Amino acid sequence: MEPIQNAFGKLIQKEGFKERYESLKEEVISHPHIQQFIEEHEEVTTSMVERSLIKLYEYIGQSVACKECPSLEGCKNMIQGYHPHLIIQGKMIDIQYERCPRKVTHDERKKQESLIQSVYMPKDILEASMASVDLGDPQRFNAILAAKQFLDEYEPGKRVQGLYLYGAFGVGKTYILGAVANALAERQIASMIVYLPEFLRELKSSIQDNTLHDKIDAVKRVPVLMMDDIGAEAMSSFVRDDILGTILQFRMLENLPTFFTSNFDFKGLEHHLTYTQRGEEEKMKAARIMERIKYLAKPVEVLGGNRRL
Ligand code: ADP
Ligand code: MG
Repeated sequence: MEPIQNAFGKLIQKEGFKERYESLKEEVISHPHIQQFIEEHEEVTTSMVERSLIKLYEYIGQSVACKECPSLEGCKNMIQGYHPHLIIQGKMIDIQYERCPRKVTHDERKKQESLIQSVYMPKDILEASMASVDLGDPQRFNAILAAKQFLDEYEPGKRVQGLYLYGAFGVGKTYILGAVANALAERQIASMIVYLPEFLRELKSSIQDNTLHDKIDAVKRVPVLMMDDIGAEAMSSFVRDDILGTILQFRMLENLPTFFTSNFDFKGLEHHLTYTQRGEEEKMKAARIMERIKYLAKPVEVLGGNRRL
């Protein structure tokens, strides 16, 4: 094979090379990201830019911050799930590839799923979207409106109340959670739906294998947590005070949005949480959990027929 130097030399001598080179340079320099990089780094000189032209050209051909990709699977970059970042290396500008926001969210979800089995997204709900929830349905209108309002108001770090969606079996409560979770994922905001009865069973069996703490910790810190079917679990003082109490207390202090679905309204859930008839003390403890739930989430009744029939 001909040494690369020679080949390059020939190319340079070819007709029109200079014009092509100039127009490529123009295209690179006028790119808004490159402009911004030059403005932010005083040390960048024209000769540095010229020396790094091939790298910069590679950079402008890639999608940054997922802006030009429809999804992680549809990522157009050279290395799927990685986007370029410009850095200065001596007298050159170089590219570093880092995980893109979608890939970070995806990896985070995978990690949660491998840690916590009861994090789930049923198949039909995987496809739930705010667009597909039936807005023309007056009985569900309040709940869908409240979900839309949450999505409009929420941004990471802001305190926005989640929703406590309650109503009969099959009316579409979990489906609404799925639609909210998917809408958040599109904005690269991590959320987690835990099916509470299963999660609590799982926690009890992880007391032995020392993963209990890690599991509670992952759930407690997720940016948007959705507890599906609270009230359907087997209640005990351990579940109520040590698990639910701990998670909810943390989320309250950190202003982390939390959603719930339940067959019970607040009154019914309070009764469920007062699981034994051991008198006043249990009532106080149940009331304390209810206070936290009411602080975290706004109650919205979901009406309508059973969609599973
Ligand atoms: P719930 O959690 O209230 O018991 P689900 O959310 O599981 O009810 O909904 C019951 C069934 O109806 C599910 O199969 C779900 O996919 C479907 N479903 C609910 N809401 C909608 C909707 N707006 N559009 C299409 N399917 C829906
Ligand atoms: Mg449900």
